Amino acid sequence: MKYSLSLLSICILSFIIVFSCSTEEEESVSPVVQTPQPEPEPTTTPTQYTLTVTAAEGGTVSSEGGTYDEGTELTITVTANQGYIFDGWEGSNSPEKSLTISLNSNISLIANFRTMNTTDINNDLSVFNYDIYEDYTEQIVDFYPNAFFTSDLSDKVVNGINLALKTAADEFGKYGPVEYWVFGTDKQAALELINKFCERREYLNQWNLSDCLREQTDETLDYSMIAYQKIGEYVILNNEPQGGAGHNGGFQWGIHQLSSSYPFSFDNLFEGIPPQDDFKTVLHEYFHVYQLSSVYNLEDEVRDSKIKPDGGIWMIEGGAEYMANYTLFKLINNGTLDFDQSYGSLREKMRNKMNNGKIVKEENCPTSKLNEFTYQFCTQAGYELGSWGVAYLANKVNNQNILLDTFYPNLKELGFEAAFNLAFGYSSKEFYEEFDAFLELPIEQQLEIIPNI
Ligand SMILES: [Zn+2]
Repeated sequence: MKYSLSLLSICILSFIIVFSCSTEEEESVSPVVQTPQPEPEPTTTPTQYTLTVTAAEGGTVSSEGGTYDEGTELTITVTANQGYIFDGWEGSNSPEKSLTISLNSNISLIANFRTMNTTDINNDLSVFNYDIYEDYTEQIVDFYPNAFFTSDLSDKVVNGINLALKTAADEFGKYGPVEYWVFGTDKQAALELINKFCERREYLNQWNLSDCLREQTDETLDYSMIAYQKIGEYVILNNEPQGGAGHNGGFQWGIHQLSSSYPFSFDNLFEGIPPQDDFKTVLHEYFHVYQLSSVYNLEDEVRDSKIKPDGGIWMIEGGAEYMANYTLFKLINNGTLDFDQSYGSLREKMRNKMNNGKIVKEENCPTSKLNEFTYQFCTQAGYELGSWGVAYLANKVNNQNILLDTFYPNLKELGFEAAFNLAFGYSSKEFYEEFDAFLELPIEQQLEIIPNI
């Protein structure tokens, strides 16, 4: 990393030198008098062109242009003011904020900006759609999440993730600031995004740049950012679908930090895995934002004891998985979301989860109850059967939104058991017994508790 960093600074340095050289040349060139020179020694004066760069309201440009020799390469960078988003160039089709042009004619460029909407998912790393000095933890906010992408990801991926995040925030509530970092398959592109992540941390006085880079580019760490790029690279190399996404914390900075490997289903990379798959993943991860927001300001251990007592993950993971699936099918069913390909039904998804859950439980932890599955023990059963546990409880109280309405809003104050009691009307112990018996029922009977959407 040190190497590429110094390489980067070298590049920047040489650019500055070239740039200042050409500026000097420009100054020393006297007005050209077009008199034919029949004599030898043809000192060909290069043709010159004028570049004009202006910034519309809402931002600035790095250069206003000038007169340059033909073929001169120039890079102009725009910076949006607080509350504005760069909205493209007039005079160029490039959507990039950093535009490199080769001067072969007179060029006039205008950088356009528009005011940031509170309905935008902010993808602009140089802009904050919130007050960086304010503490927004455990609050409903009025701005949407931020999503940042590596440069190798397609528009379909960017738009897909943005829509999924917006949908999730509309459904589960806006908590923030949320940073959703999405990695593609290319290593260099990933390193560039990690660099931007670390620059952001340093800018906000949260983390030293070099410490941040060292950790986030460490391929041996499971949850370093580069690990998410490796997953996508593996998918391409082996032509084998797999993915990873996670809520990586951010508590010490007052944000929710999430990362995602390549969301390939938006690119329709594999037959039978439509874009709904990655859409659902975003809903799952964002539900963690919601869950964690309810206990955000507690010490790590206290937070854990409320959100996953004794390490049990069925409620946090089962809740995220069930609510993601339920919400996705609900919104497809009521016409809010529209996809080209079918994704089946909620009952089909839940049928698979029951099958998988029972298989992994039988293999790894046949006598364990729902509350015994952890991130270290029988994890998969915690996800699959956990989602059934939440579905069971939602059906029991006849409210699919019971987690949003009652359980999580009371979790911080009451703790897991009392919040459970309040939401579902009995103790968790009684529920675990009851659920064990439910697992023995035939699947058709079990499926009757799942909404038919
Ligand atoms: Zn999860």
